[in-house]
Amino acid sequence: MNDLTGKPAALTQLTEDELLFRDTVRRFSSEQIAPLVRAMDESQHMDRALIHQLFSLGLLGIEIPERFGGSGGTFFEAILAVEAISAVDPSVGVLVDVQNTLCINALNRWASDDQKQKYLPKLATETIGAYALSEASSGSDAFALQTRATKKGDDYILNGQKLWITNAKEAGLFIVFATLDPALGYKGITAFLVEKDTPGFSLGKKEDKLGIRASSTCELIFRDCLIPAANLLGEPGKGYKIAIETLNEGRIGIGAQMLGLATGAWDHAAKWAKERKQFGKPIVEFQAMQFQLAEMATDIEAARLLVYNAARLKDRGEDFLKEAAMCKYFTSQVAERTASLAVEIFGGSGFVKDFPVEKLYRDAKIGKIYEGTSFMQLATIAKLTL
Ligand SMILES: Cc1cc2nc3c(=O)[nH]c(=O)nc-3n(C[C@H](O)[C@H](O)[C@H](O)COP(=O)(O)OP(=O)(O)OC[C@H]3O[C@@H](n4cnc5c(N)ncnc54)[C@H](O)[C@@H]3O)c2cc1C
Repeated sequence: MNDLTGKPAALTQLTEDELLFRDTVRRFSSEQIAPLVRAMDESQHMDRALIHQLFSLGLLGIEIPERFGGSGGTFFEAILAVEAISAVDPSVGVLVDVQNTLCINALNRWASDDQKQKYLPKLATETIGAYALSEASSGSDAFALQTRATKKGDDYILNGQKLWITNAKEAGLFIVFATLDPALGYKGITAFLVEKDTPGFSLGKKEDKLGIRASSTCELIFRDCLIPAANLLGEPGKGYKIAIETLNEGRIGIGAQMLGLATGAWDHAAKWAKERKQFGKPIVEFQAMQFQLAEMATDIEAARLLVYNAARLKDRGEDFLKEAAMCKYFTSQVAERTASLAVEIFGGSGFVKDFPVEKLYRDAKIGKIYEGTSFMQLATIAKLTL
């Protein structure tokens, strides 16, 4: 991106459209999401009216082309939205993230014209998507999955179980990865579009989690579930490519979620430090407090540069694999560290649910686990750098 002088722009410099978009999402998050955060966390339930608002603002169809009723935006805008929302609630952040960076992304790239006509307008306006790869015995080793797709005429029968599926409770459409034959290894993996009400498909246990509690995480069960050939996503045996490539991009989304979380925690901590008085003055006047906040701010700035750089590379069609792995690895560390320090800066008040940093601290842990654990990111970074 060049500015008007023709010089390369700084990574944190946004276009006018991006600024307007980010400010709109920030305002929406503080006015409409913030009042719901605690109740949604306690009830482990995503507010339905909030989901409708997210649809009306176009935030659940950011990269869907306008001809299909979407916002026709960029991947970078999806990243800005996830960041701004996660500063207020990382649970809502991951709902928006999975919808945009995994589900819509996969359909934009691999769906047939008929599938796009059928599903993209719904995803832009009313249908939440979920992305089902993991199983009980296949997490980091995702392609060891056992859910079986058996051919029946032109159609397929799914049998098996998925675990840990985000958005499952709210979703109307699931991208499900199954194998045509476990003996084929990754070359048997095939992706399917499964509608919620398909006979033979049901939700299993809903997880009771440490953090991002308003985001639903459920088991999926397939028992002789007939999937028409028209719902095959991409080619048979090429599901591994869809999974790898969407997760590479999705990882930047988790980076944005963790970046937003860290920013939110820092904002709360700085405000608290200015208001809370001990020894006759605001605690922010103690150098120890200032240095902690300064170090946290530096971490966040570095995290932002990694996230924005990976997202800009993706939008430019350039290689971003190493940068995406680094951005997820680093931002999840920054989120955990920042949220932990924010709890300490709040003192005893940081340890109770009356103040928002306790929740952000719990929410931060997931950043090191899903969409590839930190060790898996390090493995990718090592492979690409050594
Ligand atoms: C809240 C939540 C939401 C999720 N949402 C989704 C979703 O929407 N869709 C989906 O498909 N999945 C989802 N997941 C699953 C998630 O992606 C997996 O949990 C994650 O990939 C880790 O897999 P695992 O839990 O099986 O852990 P394991 O793979 O068993 O890992 C256990 C430990 O071993 C380490 N390890 C494993 N292999 C290696 C290795 N080769 N080298 C070094 N260390 C290694 C890991 O880093 C980790 O520390 C979600 C999980 C959670 C908790």
